[in-house]
Order: sequence, then C-alpha cells, then structure tokens
Amino acid sequence: MNIILLGPPGAGKGTQALRLVEAHGMRQLSTGDMLRAAVKAGTPVGLQAKAVMAAGELVSDAIVSALIGEELDAMAQDCGAIFDGYPRTAAQTESLDGILAARGRSLDHVIELAVDEDALVERITGRYTCAECGKGYHDHFEQPKVAGVCDKCGSTQFKRRPDDNEATVRTRMAEYRAKTAPILPIYDARGIVARVDGMAPMDAVTAAITAVLVQ
Ligand code: AMP
Repeated sequence: MNIILLGPPGAGKGTQALRLVEAHGMRQLSTGDMLRAAVKAGTPVGLQAKAVMAAGELVSDAIVSALIGEELDAMAQDCGAIFDGYPRTAAQTESLDGILAARGRSLDHVIELAVDEDALVERITGRYTCAECGKGYHDHFEQPKVAGVCDKCGSTQFKRRPDDNEATVRTRMAEYRAKTAPILPIYDARGIVARVDGMAPMDAVTAAITAVLVQ
C-alpha cells in the first residue's frame, strides 16, 4: 500500500507517519527529513537546499523527486510507502505518478489532515525532539516527565528545527496554500482522498487514518 499524508506544516504528518511505520511496517518517505540529512552531510543537494529551507520556501521539484525515486529504489517491493511532505506541487504529483508507475506501484490513499491554521503556529514554534531517538516534545503540550531527560531513551540532548520560527512558519503556510493545497483536487478527481480531523487528539487521528487504510 502506498499513501500520501497531506496537510500544512505542523498538521501531524510526521507523527502519524511514525505511528503507521510502527504499526504496519510501512516506510516513511519524508522529503523534509531527506533534505535535512543532506544539509547536515553537506552534500551538493544539501548546499543548494539550505538557504531555501531556512526561508521556508520550496526546494526544486527535480531535487525532491530524485530523492524520492532513490529512496523507493532502496526499498523492498512489498514494503508500503508513506509519503510525508511530498508531493507539494502539481508538478510533483505528475512526477510521483511516473516514479510509482516505473516501479510497479500505485497510490492507494491520500489522507488530508485538516487543521486550524492559527493553532499550527503555536504547535510548530513550541516543538522539539530528542537529539538521540527523535521522540517529539512540546513546550506547552508535552514536556518530558523528568525535566531535561528524554522519556524514551534517557538522553539529555534535544534539538529544534531552524525553520520552526514564526516568520519562517508563516512563509511555509503561504507556500502550502499557494502550491500544495491546489493538488488536492487532482487526487479528489481520482476518488482517493480521505479527510481526517487533524485537530483531534493524536490517538484519535491515528485511529481515523487506520480506518481509512483497512477500508
Ligand atoms: P518539512 O519537513 O516537510 O516541513 O519540510 C521542510 C522544508 O524542506 C520545506 O519548508 C521545504 O523548504 C523543503 N521541502 C520538503 N519537502 C519538499 C518538497 N516536496 N518540495 C519542495 N520542498 C520541500
């Protein structure tokens, strides 16, 4: 099964993708994570993407589509893919169609996480993760049980994304509205879009997504 999680920054795509990976053995393909890894490693792609990401703008379609193709090639054919943060433009939806067809895959569901944009800025600017295991936390909604110590792995190192500041978040939202939201009608026309309330508690969101997948 191959699915897309679609929604603005902070809608919970990454959180839900990780839960689906754990529950169903699928694989998360996050172009944001791939790009951050490239920036950290200082690869040519990373050097090109760094300033664009810091500004909250979109990296070129060609770069992200190439990354997705490479990741799919490294996966077992029978392993399902969760596309997280890709596609983000109409051109990327076309690329994804070609990428999947060339690999004998097809798209089963597009899950739209519907959210209240005003709440997202608070969600995003307060979020941080354990630098060791990646567990997510939030300044207001989810602090570690022991201050400064990760609940999951005991690490005392945490990190925040450099693009999770208010000014960049506003640009990322504007990019979503202008370039990504318009791809919904493309998938709607194929009858594969399911809308899930992304403002519901995390477990309820996971349950709603799971209900779509077992349909
Ligand atoms: P994300 O982790 O999905 O919020 O992505 C972080 C940043 O990486 C975005 O603000 C963009 O600069 C870049 N990015 C991630 N995925 C894409 C994509 N599919 N197309 C273009 N840029 C992307």
